[in-house]
Amino acid sequence: MDVEKMSGYLQKNLEALHQYTATPGAGTTRLPFTKEARSAVNHIKSMMAEVGLKVREDEAGNIIGLLEGTDPSLPALVTGSHFDTVTNGGDFDGLMGITCGIEVARLIREKGIRLKRNLIVIGFHDEEGMRFGTGYFGSKSILGQVTQEDLHRYKDKDNVSIYEAMKEYGLVPEDLPKAAWDLKTIRAFIELHIEQGPVLFQSGKELGLVECIVGIQRYIVTVRGRSDHAGTTPMDMRIDAVEAAAKVIAKIPDWAREKGDGTVATTGYVKVLPGGMNIVAEEVQFSVDVRSRNNANILDIVAKIRAELDTVCARNGSTYQMDNKLTITPVNLSEGMLAKLEKAARARGYSYRLMVSGAGHDALAIAQVLDTVMLFAPSKDGRSHCPVEWTEYRDIAKAALVLYDLILDMQEGPHD
Ligand SMILES: [Zn+2]
Repeated sequence: MDVEKMSGYLQKNLEALHQYTATPGAGTTRLPFTKEARSAVNHIKSMMAEVGLKVREDEAGNIIGLLEGTDPSLPALVTGSHFDTVTNGGDFDGLMGITCGIEVARLIREKGIRLKRNLIVIGFHDEEGMRFGTGYFGSKSILGQVTQEDLHRYKDKDNVSIYEAMKEYGLVPEDLPKAAWDLKTIRAFIELHIEQGPVLFQSGKELGLVECIVGIQRYIVTVRGRSDHAGTTPMDMRIDAVEAAAKVIAKIPDWAREKGDGTVATTGYVKVLPGGMNIVAEEVQFSVDVRSRNNANILDIVAKIRAELDTVCARNGSTYQMDNKLTITPVNLSEGMLAKLEKAARARGYSYRLMVSGAGHDALAIAQVLDTVMLFAPSKDGRSHCPVEWTEYRDIAKAALVLYDLILDMQEGPHD
């Protein structure tokens, strides 16, 4: 099948799924366990059935499409991504990976090929964590990493727990442990995704072969000072929480720049209390998100933040607290599969570059325990998580064809 034919199918499917949004005209909003998610799931199931996959929904609400191999006792290959979105997001994030898996299955069937291994195309539920502040719900469920306690602990802004949302959606939360896979039955996971950043687009290359997914540490820092009158309290007699917090926040970006290696550090959230123009601030909360492919860089920046907080808080009499919200170490993807992807891209004459993923993806959770690789298609102008998110269908089709080559290349031996 040529690129044109495959991009035609992909365009038809991706455009059709555009309708399942809670915010028509303002990007795609498809939060987990909502009626938009249910409708999209039903549509994806019919797409999978159309290409001959055996379809089921698991206890986490993941969609699983199976193309049975001639020797189902061999560990299976799994490909896919997520079907939920952020609020006012785009049409390509997540769905690219699912629709490419479906098209590869179609191509395999059209060519009359019988795979030896089972091929599973999966649509993960709730990767983004937008509704419950979590993330990787579907992928962690197949890894057996979501507890009943988690279902009750995490709630959305209307105070609805994951437990309640699952019931409302038609799932049985108590059955969630049944979604866990026996990992011995899985050979590898391959996720196709849009890059969601500008690196690939600016390089002009058609494909991004992901060598590594960055590690992340996230904190909420609370600096406590004392509220006083802004006019009557002399500068040497105030405990200004904003002064202390701002001095630290201002240094964080340069610490990331000094590290290089693609290290990034972001303060995207700042809250000042009580928040009056004529009041010295009593408290400041701010977020820190540090990412790097090199965990030592992350640890060092976090240590610098702590040391600087010690210094500036001691100087003006404020105190601070640093709460860790997320710690994930960087993960290297499968060298063996990267070599096969390079071979396939070269054989098809597609340009590519090796790169790092600065975003997490289901692959980040899965790569901790299974052989995993990711393949990126370029995001126009690097824009993503917004309505203008765009990737050329031809570029998506090229990624799908390389996925097809990889799957055929991995049929031999249980551990080739
Ligand atoms: Zn995504």
